[in-house]
Amino acid sequence: MKGVFIGLGSNLADPITQIKLAIKAVDSLDDVLLITQSSLYASPPMGPQDQPDYINAVIEIDTCLFAHTLLDKLQEIELEQGRVRHRHWGERTIDLDLLLYGENQLDDERLHVPHPGIAMRSFVLHPLAEIASDLTIPTMGNIQQLLVDCPLDGLQRID
Ligand code: ATP
Ligand code: MG
Ligand code: MG
Repeated sequence: MKGVFIGLGSNLADPITQIKLAIKAVDSLDDVLLITQSSLYASPPMGPQDQPDYINAVIEIDTCLFAHTLLDKLQEIELEQGRVRHRHWGERTIDLDLLLYGENQLDDERLHVPHPGIAMRSFVLHPLAEIASDLTIPTMGNIQQLLVDCPLDGLQRID
């Protein structure tokens, strides 16, 4: 299934390398094919302000994995790359969020898809729009319309 998008973020331990490593790890998963990756972006932190700036990217994959199985795999990659949860929205070596799983809407104790932060996070919406400019997001609408109400907020494309 295409139309599966993952948002990546890192602000520890050489963030650019962390993002590239994570993309490679996702691409190496069985039953996952990397279709497209956005540019890398730099963004100021959300949440606690006493942490380094972030590097972000969004990728699209083609996969036949169930959403929860994919989340398991993403969390394994987070652990492999030394993710430790200290505080809500705090610093991390890598964050891998399942943004979209095709047209599907999922809401349970482990998964909210579409990811509820998509429309108000410039570091998600702008990289997503770079690789899927005519996307319609379930419950949120057309991505070009969403961009109008989502200022860059310091987001910078870095490559
Ligand atoms: P946010 O989700 O607001 O970006 P975060 O990425 O820092 O915050 P995490 O600590 O990475 O949050 O994840 C906390 C929990 O969020 C995970 O254990 C997971 O079960 C849950 N979760 C719910 N929806 C999703 C999703 N779409 N993608 C990834 N994790 C999700
Ligand atoms: Mg996140
Ligand atoms: Mg997360």
